[in-house]
Amino acid sequence: MRDKGHTKYIFFTGGVVSSLGKGISAASIGRLLKARGYNVTIIKLDPYINVDPGTLSPFQHGEVYVTDDGAETDLDLGHYERFIHTNMTRRNNTTTGQIYYTVITKERRGDYLGKTVQVIPHITDEIKRRILQAGEGDSRYDIVLIEVGGTVGDIESQPFLEAIRQFTLEQGHQNVMNVHLTLVPYIRASGEIKTKPTQHSVMKLREIGLQPDMLLCRTEVPLPQDARDKIALFCSLLPEMVFEARDVDSIYEVPLLFEQDGVGDRVVARLGLEPCEPDLSGWKNFVRKVKDPSAYVRIAICGKYTNLHDSYKSIIEAFVHSGVENDARVELKWLDSEEIEAKGPAQFLGDIAGLLIPGGFGERGIEGKIAAIRYAREKGIPFFGICLGLQCAVIEFARTVCGLEDVNSTEFNPSAQNPVIDLMETQVQVSQKGGTMRLGAYRCLLEPGTHAHQAYKTVEISERHRHRYEVNNGYLETLKSRGLIVAGTNPDNHLVEVIELRDHPWFVGVQFHPELKSRVLQAHPLFREFVAAALAFKLHQQERDDKETFHEDN
Ligand code: GLN
Repeated sequence: MRDKGHTKYIFFTGGVVSSLGKGISAASIGRLLKARGYNVTIIKLDPYINVDPGTLSPFQHGEVYVTDDGAETDLDLGHYERFIHTNMTRRNNTTTGQIYYTVITKERRGDYLGKTVQVIPHITDEIKRRILQAGEGDSRYDIVLIEVGGTVGDIESQPFLEAIRQFTLEQGHQNVMNVHLTLVPYIRASGEIKTKPTQHSVMKLREIGLQPDMLLCRTEVPLPQDARDKIALFCSLLPEMVFEARDVDSIYEVPLLFEQDGVGDRVVARLGLEPCEPDLSGWKNFVRKVKDPSAYVRIAICGKYTNLHDSYKSIIEAFVHSGVENDARVELKWLDSEEIEAKGPAQFLGDIAGLLIPGGFGERGIEGKIAAIRYAREKGIPFFGICLGLQCAVIEFARTVCGLEDVNSTEFNPSAQNPVIDLMETQVQVSQKGGTMRLGAYRCLLEPGTHAHQAYKTVEISERHRHRYEVNNGYLETLKSRGLIVAGTNPDNHLVEVIELRDHPWFVGVQFHPELKSRVLQAHPLFREFVAAALAFKLHQQERDDKETFHEDN
């Protein structure tokens, strides 16, 4: 580890349009610094007024990323963990809602007695306090990267930008760096790239007193030197601080391209850190395998939000990591559970080697998921159920295999005769929606000899949760007597955490969200084994087909 000088701070703002990949850029630069031996963390400042994204629809916001300490956070925190391998906490995501909540609570308590509470200094002070606090962490961080959500010019972003201006003065220019991510559009008709939007966006930043130290320009085409010179001149920075952020096939290439262009060295120099060679060998190997795998396998994801892939971000990435460990590319087939409900599973699931049912809420599409699970169970197709996926698998098993009548989760039918999935006791009295689910890391003990135990290679694990309903332990004896295996249990509250099936090659359901802990070069063990099982299933199918053709030919 490096010597402990003053903590350094790098702010990332975005201009022109949203969705330019600020989170990936911050995570990539975080990786380059981590590869140089620095202790790095990343925080996200979100300008919206919700206290956290937990109450937002996945259609609006994408996935809610849950941390070990039970915070419901922005999906960019998932990228941070996957890229820099540092565990995030609730300190890593701050929203305008949280800032106002804190300030208003203090005002009611009388902390500001006699004073008028204002955006400057009270809101900006609270923003700065949170940035400093994030840098403290368990062991003080050398470098804190701060991503500011939204786009420069948004009304909601203003207090954050003002706080950065003050923060730079207070911490010293040599300890704070501003990186601005912008779009340089390419006009196809005239074959030109346009620098004007970037100039305007930097002008907006300067209006509030912020001067970018580095520009990352998103482009579809290479950024010629004369365009860099022009941008540099108009935006008052050196041409060598203007970088191109090209569109790439895999997000995991971004750190390597940045490094190749010299971004890492420039950041280190700007912050007065010692120059050194980064160790990116493992990362390079990983990217090579992502781009050129030896095999491929098709796995279906059947859910409700399948036309918005951001809702399943961590699952998608977990398949990239686990694909690499199996030297295969996982091709995802997205299935809309309502369509399966309407048309039956056979026409959709005939060409897949694995089925994953992800987490979800509400009744819509449930019967489609249950039909898909039945198909996978009966045909021996590897199955992986996550949270709601486990709950649907238990419902299907209780209905079809145990032959129970009127089986359901009380989430979908509160008066079901056989509620095999039911509200946890601790949830019954809960009426507030925000932050009240079973959230964060819980312990689980695995049953030796199960698929889960073989995957994790250990008995005690800890995984992250986000749900209100559970397997109803009153039905365990019935379920077990027909071949359901309880492969993992919470030792503290005795809730079922992992289920498997006796008569199936690979059928695993988990009440937690394993996808949240899968990382580059550390694929989640259950995803890794699920992909392995899908590859084995595919091979088996091919052998069977070959045999059939052989018999037909003779
Ligand atoms: N809706 C279910 C519950 O609350 C499942 C939640 C989930 O899949 N994350 O228990």
